[in-house]
Amino acid sequence: MINISMQTGITDELAPELGVTQWIDASGQPLATFGLDKMPGAFKVIFCFQDANAECHLTGFPAMASLVDAFRGSSYVSFAAVQTVFENFASNSYERMVANQRRYALPIVFGHDAGEGREGAGSVLMQRYQSGGTPWFIIVDPEGVVIYNQFQIDVHRVVAGLKRAESASPLTKPDPSILTWRGVLELARDGNPPPPRRLELSDAEWRRRLNAEQYRVMRQAGTERAHSSAMCTLFGPGVYACGCCDTDLFDASSKFDSKSGWPSFTQALAPGLVAYHADRSHGMTRVETTCNVCGAHLGHVFPDGPKPSGLRFCMNGASLRKR
Ligand SMILES: [Zn+2]
Repeated sequence: MINISMQTGITDELAPELGVTQWIDASGQPLATFGLDKMPGAFKVIFCFQDANAECHLTGFPAMASLVDAFRGSSYVSFAAVQTVFENFASNSYERMVANQRRYALPIVFGHDAGEGREGAGSVLMQRYQSGGTPWFIIVDPEGVVIYNQFQIDVHRVVAGLKRAESASPLTKPDPSILTWRGVLELARDGNPPPPRRLELSDAEWRRRLNAEQYRVMRQAGTERAHSSAMCTLFGPGVYACGCCDTDLFDASSKFDSKSGWPSFTQALAPGLVAYHADRSHGMTRVETTCNVCGAHLGHVFPDGPKPSGLRFCMNGASLRKR
């Protein structure tokens, strides 16, 4: 479903509320409130347009009409169109939003995000999703995570991908006992549960206990060289413990061969052992993982792992000890 584009907004993050206050339902009647939480279906597709933007009429609306057509009668995907604005404020009016719903006979909810009323200020939705203009498409997955957020859309590929997902799991909800990407994002945003115990040592004590590489990785959030750890190719049974405080963190049964060059796991041994933190260093938005007991840097977690968690804990071998 991913295609290549020069510019994308936020992806792999929890979908922010759309922030749009003026809505009309599929038949053009005003809605008191509407938003992501009121959109039914497993996947949600939002099309952002500007009335004054020719490309929206040339390619955006036809693409949206094809998407809506492909899922007519299905409750698996729901759709909304939002008239955003960053230029030509006069023509991107509420009336034009209503007129566009009629013009394209789209039986979906339409919203009007008027923005702050000045050129270049952009609409609330555009700011929250860091979109780059119009025509713009956003797709939110069943977990409430943004998986697509960019100019244009490859209708054929997206329909094929959504149909595949629909036939694979038409109604199944994620198992709440398994930590998934949504859960990771929520912990990174809202805070981690208290650890089963806590170990705090002085910097001098950590320096004394660890070798130089362990200290650099675990206490200074370093990253070991790819493919440098013998642990990458270790798949026998056992438990992987924190290299600083010896807390058991991962069972070998959750280890898999990611071929990334770092030991990889799909889940931690239990909740509360690994802590999750938003990491915006090096120009990227990632989620750092630490030992929740002693704060040792372990590595990062990514949403491209195998089922059922879909997570890839990308760990430094220097942060772990196998037993
Ligand atoms: Zn630890």
